[in-house]
Amino acid sequence: RPILLWFRRDLRLSDHPALSAAAHSGRAVIPVFVHDEITQRLGAAPKWRLGLGVEAFAESLGELGLKLILRKGDALEEISRLVDETGAASVWWMRQYDPEQIKRDTKVKSALQGDGVEAKSFPGHLMFEPWDVQTGQGKFYQVYTPFWRAVRARDVPDRLSAPNKVKAPEQWPDSDDLDDWRMGDAMNRGAEVVRPYLHVGEAAARQRLAIFARDRIDSYHTDRDRMDSDATSGLSENLTYGEISPLALWDAGQRALADGKAGAETFLKEVVWREFAYHLVYHTPHITNESWRAGWESFPWRAESEETMRWKQGRTGIQIVDAAMRELYVTGRMHNRARMLVGSYLTKHMMTHWRVGQDWFAECLVDWDPAANAMGWQWVAGSGPDASPYFRIFNPDTQAEKFDPKRAYRTRWVAELSQSPPETAMAFFDACPRSWNLRPDARYPEPVVDLTAGRNRALSAYEQRKTA
Ligand code: FAD
Repeated sequence: RPILLWFRRDLRLSDHPALSAAAHSGRAVIPVFVHDEITQRLGAAPKWRLGLGVEAFAESLGELGLKLILRKGDALEEISRLVDETGAASVWWMRQYDPEQIKRDTKVKSALQGDGVEAKSFPGHLMFEPWDVQTGQGKFYQVYTPFWRAVRARDVPDRLSAPNKVKAPEQWPDSDDLDDWRMGDAMNRGAEVVRPYLHVGEAAARQRLAIFARDRIDSYHTDRDRMDSDATSGLSENLTYGEISPLALWDAGQRALADGKAGAETFLKEVVWREFAYHLVYHTPHITNESWRAGWESFPWRAESEETMRWKQGRTGIQIVDAAMRELYVTGRMHNRARMLVGSYLTKHMMTHWRVGQDWFAECLVDWDPAANAMGWQWVAGSGPDASPYFRIFNPDTQAEKFDPKRAYRTRWVAELSQSPPETAMAFFDACPRSWNLRPDARYPEPVVDLTAGRNRALSAYEQRKTA
């Protein structure tokens, strides 16, 4: 009897333990993707990007002679229905670790087992299971550096190549048509504006990694913070949908290290930041929606307002912040250092709750990831574990001088700063909704919050909180 292979954020053929095991079993395999309660709630950009990922993955499966069965609805209902329709004796999947997906998977597992169906989950989304990495006292890590040391000393699992043969069922169950799901409907700027910046699917991800490992990893340690250069791998977009495995990145990093490439160790450390984010999310799931450290919810955070709208629109009047917010809107991505700067300006100078930023990123990022986004925001706001403390406030001007010394990044994204703005900067005005009523020839705005005044206000609120 067939195996239903339930794909979620693991849209790849290689380094896929569940798929490899299913291929080796010699049983017929029915791959399925359910557009369920969780994916239906995704923000506009990640939902649209997921749709593109599903489309590309269905093609890869097609080359193996398999058909990706698409169903929309409650995950348990749809999986159970498919079990009935196909007579599958097993449902296998790759584990996920954020609270929403754990809740769904636990429910599905116990219901299937109750019905006598084998429900089995496999690793693969991470290099190390979050419960396998422990401190000497058998606890989870709350600080990155010892986590990194613990992980660095471990052996990683073996890589798995894509199966070249998988048995197909005699008859395929019905499938929805992906177009009918209209996953791009909420994405006003998808096809025309953002699409050229994407690298969708497993083959594109591998190629991207190969180019990075050949051309850029050597100088990654010195250039990765430069907002004006394309020095990083860009693979977060693929990792989040599982189009490439963390093991592939780790492997490339290790090879580069062996070849004496200077930036390789720093790259490995970044790959482990992703592991750390999942380690934290698994052990302290409240990190996704509540301040991780006690007491931060009662900080006098300011609510959403006309000012936060200006932050979203890239009109804070702080050039480097505005460049980053417009990069996000146009490309669906933002440089890591820029994420830290816009986050610091929002949560400190503007004293706005980090959740406002987290939500906007969840709406706009094509690499939106439940663990990395939550950890990133709590790091920036000072409310997370091993976070940048609240009193450490980035000065956007100093940061811009250091990491965008020739103003190339600001020029690339903020049209109002040039006589003849580049296409990238103009694209923002084509991308943003009419209701925003923005024009490239408008006067560049005054700061929403002056840097010195904002900094003093944040520090005094922080001091008051400490003494309260
Ligand atoms: P590279 O520099 O090439 O790094 C390789 C890989 O390492 C990345 O693809 C990523 O998987 C991992 N990595 C690197 N830095 C981090 C980090 N700080 N935390 C966790 N993993 C990391 N990353 C996301 O993937 N999705 C998010 O939703 C997300 N939200 C963020 C929000 C904030 C406020 C901040 C400060 C950071 C956030 N990050 C997020 C982390 C980081 O900015 C991105 O992973 C990185 O910019 C991706 O670019 P890259 O693939 O070129 O990274």
